[in-house]
Amino acid sequence: MKIVVLLKEVPDTYVDRKLNLETGLADRAASDPVLDEIGERALEVVLKYAESVGEGVEVSALTMSPAGATASIRKGLAMGASSAIHIADDGLSGADLGLTAEVLAAALREIGADLIVAGQQSTDGATGMLPAMLAELLGLPALTSLSEVTIAADSVSGTRVADDALMQVSAPLPALISVTDALPEARFPNFKGIMAAKKKPIEVKTLADLGVDPTDLTPSRTIMTAVSERPPRTAGTKLTDDGTAAEKLAAYLAENRLV
Ligand SMILES: Cc1cc2nc3c(=O)[nH]c(=O)nc-3n(C[C@H](O)[C@H](O)[C@H](O)COP(=O)(O)OP(=O)(O)OC[C@H]3O[C@@H](n4cnc5c(N)ncnc54)[C@H](O)[C@@H]3O)c2cc1C
Repeated sequence: MKIVVLLKEVPDTYVDRKLNLETGLADRAASDPVLDEIGERALEVVLKYAESVGEGVEVSALTMSPAGATASIRKGLAMGASSAIHIADDGLSGADLGLTAEVLAAALREIGADLIVAGQQSTDGATGMLPAMLAELLGLPALTSLSEVTIAADSVSGTRVADDALMQVSAPLPALISVTDALPEARFPNFKGIMAAKKKPIEVKTLADLGVDPTDLTPSRTIMTAVSERPPRTAGTKLTDDGTAAEKLAAYLAENRLV
């Protein structure tokens, strides 16, 4: 069985992230790039399954990121993925969701995975749209936002938490799933894993390899037309209770269409 885990490199989640207001792109130099934690959890689910089966499960990592992003890929390999595919091409700078999905789908088509595992939502773009878009492009069933996952030889199932219900969902393979951070934390790569990762293959692919033209706007594409710094928060309205606070509060809520 071939399982592909989608790993995204993101600016360090625990520091302030910055947009370059001239280019509209994330300022990658402003913080250390890290492997998105949700991707690590996705990989952990898959590695646990592969270990439980023993043999016959091939786990690959797939990422689309700038050329230098090999540290994050190596981390995935050090955790236990057996190989990685890195899509890197200058034409992908500032890629929107449409282009990102198109490019990842082209790579996934070539790989022909039985199961594709993504995080529910990245910590930078954070649209949470990519898994569903990929499933649509690949014509695969999508089990999204799973907080528990069970992988079997010919199917995948899991639990999705809704506001007031737990849904049990399943699909035959091939399928795509996305997982939430309710899943267990990922393992730390150990020394043996880090050393082994140095020898594991990373295949680098370009847009030309995948047959995707980033300048072709026929598929649905969106372009960020302007970016500016978010205005600082303004001071809130303070009400002193001189006997009229309730009235003022009700008027404020009505005025701001909050009731
Ligand atoms: C500075 C900036 C400008 C942007 N401008 C635009 C714009 O103009 N128009 C627009 O539509 N979007 C724009 N985006 C959004 C950007 O294109 C998305 O971040 C990207 O397409 C992936 O979407 P996401 O991170 O929201 O994915 P999500 O759907 O939140 O990610 C879910 C999961 O998909 C997988 N995944 C996501 N991205 C990758 C990847 N690159 N490689 C491997 N796996 C991945 C991971 O498993 C991840 O956990 C911008 C983002 C930034 C930071």
